Amino acid sequence: MLTKLRDPQKAENLVELCEILNEWAEAIADPHSGVDDYNSDLTSLPTFGGREVNDTTEVWSWDADNLLINGAQITVYVSGWETQPRCPTCHEAVFHCEHDND
Ligand SMILES: [Zn+2]
Repeated sequence: MLTKLRDPQKAENLVELCEILNEWAEAIADPHSGVDDYNSDLTSLPTFGGREVNDTTEVWSWDADNLLINGAQITVYVSGWETQPRCPTCHEAVFHCEHDND
């Protein structure tokens, strides 16, 4: 079965980009999909405004309020792509800063 997957480079916002990448991840995980890799250079995904991220380690894209992460890289408890809020103090990823935002 040939799966019609959307192009991550054409995503119009961070939530849509996250959805598209999860569709790719699912297809890659499915041995019957005929898809074995992303069609796109994941190190040059589009970003959607907001302050430039200084530490982009494990940060794949962003908008003004949220970052795109690949959950499986951060914790074994989460798989797939997800968005998470930026630190409201420094606007970096919460796993890269020392601010206590609880
Ligand atoms: Zn911070």
